[in-house]
Amino acid sequence: MEKKDSAMKKSESGRTQNGDEVTATIQIADGPPMAFNTEEDRDRVEEQMSEWMQKFVDGALPDFEKAMKAPHPATWPDGEKYVRAGIPGALADLLIPKYHPHLTNARISYLWKQELQIRGAGRVRLAKASKCDAKLAFLANSDFVILFNWKAWEKLTAMQRVAIADHELCHCDQDLDSGAWKMRHHDVEEFSEIVGRYGLWKMDLMLFGHQLKQLELDLSGASS
Ligand SMILES: [Zn+2]
Repeated sequence: MEKKDSAMKKSESGRTQNGDEVTATIQIADGPPMAFNTEEDRDRVEEQMSEWMQKFVDGALPDFEKAMKAPHPATWPDGEKYVRAGIPGALADLLIPKYHPHLTNARISYLWKQELQIRGAGRVRLAKASKCDAKLAFLANSDFVILFNWKAWEKLTAMQRVAIADHELCHCDQDLDSGAWKMRHHDVEEFSEIVGRYGLWKMDLMLFGHQLKQLELDLSGASS
C-alpha cells in the first residue's frame, strides 16, 4: 500500500483561486461519455480497474460495493432540477479520509443534475464542483456543492465513477493559513496534440508522466 499511496498522492502545487463563484469541471468531447474505440480498450480499462480496486480498497471492497448500491434514481423524476446524489456522496465518504483528510469537516452537498452541458462548446460535462458563497453556505449548510451528470454516469465504469468523485474532491481545498475553503484548479492542463508533438515538455507534465509510470509499475507488480 505504501507504494500505491505515493503514486496516488496529489500534487500540492496546483494553482488556486479565491472567490465565491469559482467552479471547476470535468469535461469530455461530445458523444458517448468516455467511449472506448474498441472492445479491447474497454477490457483493458476494466482489467486495470479490478487490479486497482484490489490494491486501493485494501480490504474495504465491501464498503465500495455498498457505496455503489446507494439509492439511485433509475429514471429522472419529472420536473426535478436536482436530486441528491447518493452514490457519489457515499464514494466521497470513503475517499475523504483516505485522500482528502482536510475535507473531514467540510460540508459538501452532492447532487445529480439530469444532464450537464458546456454552453456553446458541444461537450458533455461529467461533474462540476463549486464553492458556496457565504449566503448559500448559510442557507444550504454547505461549503461546497458537487453536481454530477446523471445521464453520463450510467455509461461509466466503476473506476471512472470513483475517479470522478475523487477528481471533484481535489477541487475542494482549504487555505492553510486562514482555514477558508477555496477551489483548487487542475495541476496539469495541456492539449493532447501538444503532448503528442513535444512529449512531457514542462514540469507539471513531467510530474504527471512520473505518476503514470509509478502507477503502471504498481499495477504490473500487482498482476504478476
Ligand atoms: Zn476538474
